[in-house]
Amino acid sequence: MKEEQVALVTGGSRGIGRAIAVELSSAGYELIITYKSDDGSAAETLDIIRSQGGTGEKVRFDVTDSREAARRMDEILARHKNIHVLVNNAGITADGLFMMMREEDWDRVIQTTLKGFYNVTKPVIKRMAKNHRGSVVSISSVSALVGNRGQANYAAAKAGLIAASRSLASEVARFGIRVNVVAPGLIDTGMIKGAPLQKIKDIIPMARIGKPEEVAKVVRFLCSDDASYITGQVISVNGGML
Ligand code: NDP
Repeated sequence: MKEEQVALVTGGSRGIGRAIAVELSSAGYELIITYKSDDGSAAETLDIIRSQGGTGEKVRFDVTDSREAARRMDEILARHKNIHVLVNNAGITADGLFMMMREEDWDRVIQTTLKGFYNVTKPVIKRMAKNHRGSVVSISSVSALVGNRGQANYAAAKAGLIAASRSLASEVARFGIRVNVVAPGLIDTGMIKGAPLQKIKDIIPMARIGKPEEVAKVVRFLCSDDASYITGQVISVNGGML
């Protein structure tokens, strides 16, 4: 019997993560989506996956909570022989000018992105290394590449994600594991609610906000054998913003 290909998407309950989960499901992967608290959205994502003939499960945990994450990841890895694809997508913003930024907002944005990367990627990469295959894609941001007023915490976290991914890519290439990053520009999800869209569109050469599916397709490509010689790279999906 052919081994089931398994993909784990953190923050797969809504927004970009949901689009990635649905896209990977249509590519034939069995999905594990994780999320922090919104059970309804996670269930909806699974409904979409099942309605297109796919299979999946949802696992709720806070990626910043090391103990809880370790417990949940242990359970996942006990159920699945391998995770073939890991997408580190969970992320938050807590914008504010640096001079006024609360320490709590600095910490939770950095923790969600970087502690989340550590807590989820470490157990998965060990299993991938044992199996001598795997692909990790992490979702950064255009803010990591150029900075953004009001997003010192977010830009720092997302730049850290790139540096961590490039380092990891060079460590695990010998095990047949590829590690890449996708850096989206502005994408139409709940995260950009309230942003001054008209002003923003003026600085996007394609003069429109991106769709979650447009990010998901790039993630699908990076996870596939079509990207077999690509590792340690950052792919921008931003309508020409850079
Ligand atoms: P959304 O806010 O729509 O979704 C965020 C997802 O992450 C949800 O599933 C949420 O779960 C989960 N999540 C948040 N915090 C945690 C946590 N501590 N532990 C576990 N899960 C968590 O975000 P987007 O879809 O817009 O963004 C997805 C990724 O893309 C993020 O990393 C974001 O930074 C990045 N990005 C987004 C851009 C955009 O314009 N939208 C642009 C560039 C990058 P729950 O709902 O249960 O809290």
